[in-house]
Amino acid sequence: MTILDGKALAAKIKEQTAKTTAELASQGKRQPCLAVVLVGEDPASQIYVRNKHNDCVTTGIKSLMHTLPADTKQEDLLSLIDSLNADDGVDGILVQLPLPKHLDEKTVTERISASKDVDAFSAYNVGKITLGRGGFKPCTPAGIMRLLEEYNIEIAGKECVVVGRSNIVGKPMALLLLAAGGTVTVCHTKTADLAYHTRRADILIAAAGRADLIKGDMVKEGAVIVDVGMNRKDGKLCGDVNFEECAAKASYITPVPGGVGPMTRAMLLENTLTAYTNK
Ligand code: NAP
Repeated sequence: MTILDGKALAAKIKEQTAKTTAELASQGKRQPCLAVVLVGEDPASQIYVRNKHNDCVTTGIKSLMHTLPADTKQEDLLSLIDSLNADDGVDGILVQLPLPKHLDEKTVTERISASKDVDAFSAYNVGKITLGRGGFKPCTPAGIMRLLEEYNIEIAGKECVVVGRSNIVGKPMALLLLAAGGTVTVCHTKTADLAYHTRRADILIAAAGRADLIKGDMVKEGAVIVDVGMNRKDGKLCGDVNFEECAAKASYITPVPGGVGPMTRAMLLENTLTAYTNK
């Protein structure tokens, strides 16, 4: 069994990003820039945003932080996005989700210009992935694809099972696996017999957000298991996969933490660099 080491690969990607930005600086070019908008004081969001800011700082990407109060009006948030869209010095825009209840996430994420939508949550970018026409890829599924590629894991012809159908993880994950030639099944809470599907998986992506959902007897011998889940159990961070039981059968498996999480952050930096280069 081999651990899919997202932490190590993310460190490599960050190193490469830092090299690229240093080269740009040595040529007297402007720094790539990511604008991050945080509305309110959700503690988890504050940590995510701080991590993203630190990643930018350590890799030579300029990070513009906009922290707005929880009672920010929708029109004020939209007008901030409009000004960031129009700012030639800003390459990527990310609005940290979830937003306070009175703000409409759909309207807000759709307002970000497609060329700066580095989180790739807009209908335009999702449409491009669906049609296989490039565009930004959402960071978590993109990070998983990169991790599989790093370990030379073949996708074409494989049974791929994705547990979860959210717009930011499950659905785009399924589309990327499909584009890579996998035979894809997507499971969710209405799936009649989850274990029937997971046991068939050569590549299993668990993205349900339920601790211990995937047990050892639900996976095939030799499966590649990717655990996207980030759950708290007895105060400890854990994924959706029972690691001990599943690692005993897997050929490759991601740990939590140290698997998908760092890759998600690394892909945000890559998408920001892509947005910069596309200009
Ligand atoms: P989400 O929006 O809550 O979606 C969860 C999906 O899982 C839904 O489609 C749901 O089905 C399905 N599901 C839930 N319980 C299930 C069960 N018992 N059996 C089968 N399917 C089930 O969550 P998300 O945003 O996709 O995130 C999923 C997990 O990944 C969370 O733990 C989140 O924290 C984590 N995450 C991690 C990263 C990272 O970088 N590591 C990034 C993003 C998310 P229905 O559609 O039928 O409700």
